[in-house]
Amino acid sequence: MKRKIIALFGGTFDPIHLGHTTVAQAAADHLAADRLVFIPVKQSPLKNVSPVASEMQRLEMIKLALGTHDRFDLSDFEVNGPVPSYTLHTVKHFRERFGAACSLHWLVGADAVQGLARWYGVSELLSLCSLSVMYRAGCETPDFSGFERIWGQVYTDKLKRQVIPTPLIPVSSTEVRNKIRRGDALGESLAPGVCAYIKEKELYR
Ligand code: ATP
Repeated sequence: MKRKIIALFGGTFDPIHLGHTTVAQAAADHLAADRLVFIPVKQSPLKNVSPVASEMQRLEMIKLALGTHDRFDLSDFEVNGPVPSYTLHTVKHFRERFGAACSLHWLVGADAVQGLARWYGVSELLSLCSLSVMYRAGCETPDFSGFERIWGQVYTDKLKRQVIPTPLIPVSSTEVRNKIRRGDALGESLAPGVCAYIKEKELYR
């Protein structure tokens, strides 16, 4: 039987934008993933500001952005858990749920590489799943030099092998929120349903 491949994609998604969905799709294709699970965080341990939209609103916007996409799922595991949410705890939960035999990937954008060494329990995390770094517009190509010193050659080589050359989509949630606040045009950065939801709820003004 084919080994199940699951990709987990955590983030604040405040709001979810086309950068998120485009790289998620590309990563799912690259990994030949059976499922890709979006996992909004309640409060990131690495961001010192709380999300603007509520947990319920961010979940709603993700549902709207994912539409009827057959490989994408949404999990409320972190929004219903304690603050801060640690990726290690989330990965352990999904490892238990999908079993030891499944190939589990945690996806992050290239902007996360710099802070990786500070992640809670990162060595254990690296042994429990494949940490797959995706390209991100405006960021350097992922560079793990200096990581050998912390994690040794084996993990560092694994991180290098797992890089996913996703398309460069120059969008961030910060930029979307700033544009809405200023009343600037959003262009193509959000799914139409997400755009309509933000207008209806008067979010980010
Ligand atoms: P903010 O601007 O509020 O920090 P963000 O746009 O970075 O938000 P997050 O929800 O914090 O979005 O990101 C979730 C994950 O998606 C992170 O791993 C981030 O690196 C990745 N990501 C976000 N936008 C992109 C993008 N345009 N290309 C590639 N990866 C992205």
